[in-house]
Amino acid sequence: MSKVAPELHSLLNAQINNEMTASYNYLAMSAWFENTPYGGFAQWMLAQSQEETTHAMKFYHFLIDRGAKVELAAISTPRADFSSPLEVFETSLNQEEQVTTSIHQLYNMAETHRDHESKNLLNWFLDEQVEEEKAVQDMIDRLRLVGDNPLGLLQLDQEAAQRSPLIDTTTHEGN
Ligand code: MG
Repeated sequence: MSKVAPELHSLLNAQINNEMTASYNYLAMSAWFENTPYGGFAQWMLAQSQEETTHAMKFYHFLIDRGAKVELAAISTPRADFSSPLEVFETSLNQEEQVTTSIHQLYNMAETHRDHESKNLLNWFLDEQVEEEKAVQDMIDRLRLVGDNPLGLLQLDQEAAQRSPLIDTTTHEGN
């Protein structure tokens, strides 16, 4: 028997889709960077894509643990072309701000239904969104600072390369 109110249940399912959409969008950004000299930014976006999948899975397991049905929906085709690293990160910030709005809507609904367990889960996401937006905003600020300077861009790219993906997906072997 589901312990989640129907209105909240549908928003939680929608959030699985929002997080998976973000994951897919970041994967497309990573793929775009792979065809540029910026391998570090490609790695950053791959790591971010994987992180978004773990966010989707938090909502997925939460629904299952509370006896509520998981309902997966189609993910739309991500944007594949960008004009510069700055434009990619600006698109990323825009996406994170939309995700933050959806977390706020979920939180409001959880309050309406006095669903304390959902609020507890959502508190983690509120902190996470502050971190996500800050990380992307910091990169945007530095990308604006270096402008078209190749050395500056390559330095930021090297910095972005410090971020490791959660799973190594580069191997072609089994398992
Ligand atoms: Mg997320």
